[in-house]
Amino acid sequence: MGFKDGLTKQKDGTYILSHKSKEAKEGDCIECGQNPKSRMLMFKYNTEDFKLVREYIHDHLTSYSNTKSMKPIWCKKCQALLEYKATLKDTKNK
Ligand SMILES: [Zn+2]
Repeated sequence: MGFKDGLTKQKDGTYILSHKSKEAKEGDCIECGQNPKSRMLMFKYNTEDFKLVREYIHDHLTSYSNTKSMKPIWCKKCQALLEYKATLKDTKNK
């Protein structure tokens, strides 16, 4: 008890990362480990955030012509933006 190495021991003796544990810090999302209260995050249900995400995708698609499409990946649990998934154009056919 009392180790602060980011691991949590489960009842069956296995270790998992603390942020994946249900006993994670209060407010932390158990799915992605991010804290939904943090202002650094963007959320799917927040119209302003969603607008920024769309703008980001638009900018990216404008700047990188080899990117065919981009998809924002949201946490299934807290709906925070985790990452963008870009699909590149298939240049072989050109
Ligand atoms: Zn989450």
